[in-house]
Amino acid sequence: MGDLKFVFLGTGTSQGVPILGCACPVCRSPDPRDKRLRTSAAIFVGEQVWVIDTGPDFRQQALRARLPTVDAVLFTHAHKDHTAGLDDVRPFNYLQNKRIVLYGDHRTLQQIRVEYAYAFEGPPYPGLPQLTLWEIEPFSPFCLHGVEVLPLPFLHYRLPILGYRIGRLAYITDASAIPEETWKYLRGVEILVLNALRKEPHISHFHLDAALEVVAQLKPQEAYFIHISHLMGRHAEVQAELPPGVFLAYDGLELSFPYP
Ligand SMILES: [Zn+2]
Ligand SMILES: [Zn+2]
Ligand SMILES: [Zn+2]
Repeated sequence: MGDLKFVFLGTGTSQGVPILGCACPVCRSPDPRDKRLRTSAAIFVGEQVWVIDTGPDFRQQALRARLPTVDAVLFTHAHKDHTAGLDDVRPFNYLQNKRIVLYGDHRTLQQIRVEYAYAFEGPPYPGLPQLTLWEIEPFSPFCLHGVEVLPLPFLHYRLPILGYRIGRLAYITDASAIPEETWKYLRGVEILVLNALRKEPHISHFHLDAALEVVAQLKPQEAYFIHISHLMGRHAEVQAELPPGVFLAYDGLELSFPYP
């Protein structure tokens, strides 16, 4: 199969960084790594491009990363900071003249069907997003273009959400707890992408120490933190305090890794 390329399209929490109207040192930082669009990622598999979530910044992210196409979307959950940009997949429908498949759990796809009802109800007309909903279940792997994707359940406070294991990489966003049965499927992960909101604890997101604790348990070769708030602090200062192999991700960062 060769290498998969993974691009961080966005690494910010739901409001992004800078936050509208905020004059804190992080939001005013000139460092480009302190400018975080809403959390999302792209995975290049040969000629195929998948994205994980389509948040409100999706269009801007697709332009910035020069995505040539989008073949599939893997959704983690239906919060707006992960779904609000879905309508902007339409140009890829026209370019490819094919539907885009949305993978998600039952709850997420139901919510998308409600929020984007015009795409699913009534007579189809040109200009509508062409979307196919494909329901997936935790622990039931599926194959995309020869690559196995394993959906794994996490808890976002009380909300069950999905993360994804793709070969040596695991992608987990918006988690605040890892269910007991999920741990064994994370074993052996080499590249861990994990949410870490800020330094202080939070009810529905891992904070920095909780994320570091997960890293200590799983011992990946590299860990990248995402879904970061302005309250985390400036990128350069926080990064300097992290253990070896642990990184705050930033928008535009790219990784590539062999598959399988
Ligand atoms: Zn979120
Ligand atoms: Zn701020
Ligand atoms: Zn969320």
